[in-house]
Amino acid sequence: MIHPGVPAPNLAPLLGRDTLKRRGDATYRAFTTRSLLNRCSSRSMPFEWTVNPYRGCTMGCRYCYAAYTHEYLGSSVAEDFHASIYVKRDAPGETNRRLASAIRRGERIALGTATDPYQPGEADEGVTRRFLELVAQHRGVRLGITTKGAVILRDIDLLRRIHERGRLSIHVSLISLDTALLRRLEPWAPPPTVRLEVLRRLTAAGLDAGLSVSPVLPALTDSEADLEALLSRCAEAGVRRLSSTLLFLRSPTREKYFRWLEAEFPRYLEAYRRAYAGRVYLGGSYRARIRGLIERLRRRHGFDRIPEDEGATARFAVPPAQLALWSSTRT
Ligand code: SF4
Repeated sequence: MIHPGVPAPNLAPLLGRDTLKRRGDATYRAFTTRSLLNRCSSRSMPFEWTVNPYRGCTMGCRYCYAAYTHEYLGSSVAEDFHASIYVKRDAPGETNRRLASAIRRGERIALGTATDPYQPGEADEGVTRRFLELVAQHRGVRLGITTKGAVILRDIDLLRRIHERGRLSIHVSLISLDTALLRRLEPWAPPPTVRLEVLRRLTAAGLDAGLSVSPVLPALTDSEADLEALLSRCAEAGVRRLSSTLLFLRSPTREKYFRWLEAEFPRYLEAYRRAYAGRVYLGGSYRARIRGLIERLRRRHGFDRIPEDEGATARFAVPPAQLALWSSTRT
């Protein structure tokens, strides 16, 4: 349930008062913002600007690190992030001014750090497309896009133009080939076969599209056999680039994910509670094991490394929730 103004009353005026429409279980509202581009001031991030055309995301991923960004809009229920979607309405002049400034300085832009820019609503709302149309008017843009959405195929011509005139990297998130598991984990995201096809078509179009295994989930998606199958299929689809992150659990995602585990995989709950007690992600031997495994599989299947400076939101060393924080607090 959304309570405008609590706990961030200063954001209340930005909220659109009228519900635009309801689709399925999601409610879409307008959200007025000065610009789609927000400055990311942290030097540890591989980009200087973020673009999140929406607040909230209907894909429904149980592990979504961005769920807490709705707290800034007055919601204290993690599930609201998937049900109450805010569609950004920017002042194009200001977005274009910041875009030109980013290009002039050679700064990198990450599209989709706290929402999926190609979630289903984009098919109607077109906020991501309008931003890309603006980008395509310029030369020299350094842009990274992260998505699970098949709607990205609608924009292939536009993406090719941006690729030809600048530097574009696309990161398609897929953590497993297990359709039944993903239906429970990411209930409204496209199934693995669709995302493989998205990767295949983007690659066939000459675009720099990579696989993002983010996040690797302990006990659920971290076996060598499962990761081997995933990377093997992606290699067959022509994908040559790979990145990965570990599961990052901070409140309220932690509580939401544990509620889901209790309902779906109760046998793992206690082990998760112990492993994540007092920490937000697993380091030490677990991190080393997964990192080593991914690296072995990367070499076996001939994937390139994704350089850390290309605007990817998927890196081992970056706690992803920080990305969401920066995106959510700067409008
Ligand atoms: S697609 Fe990304 S932003 Fe959307 S719910 Fe899943 S993890 Fe969150």
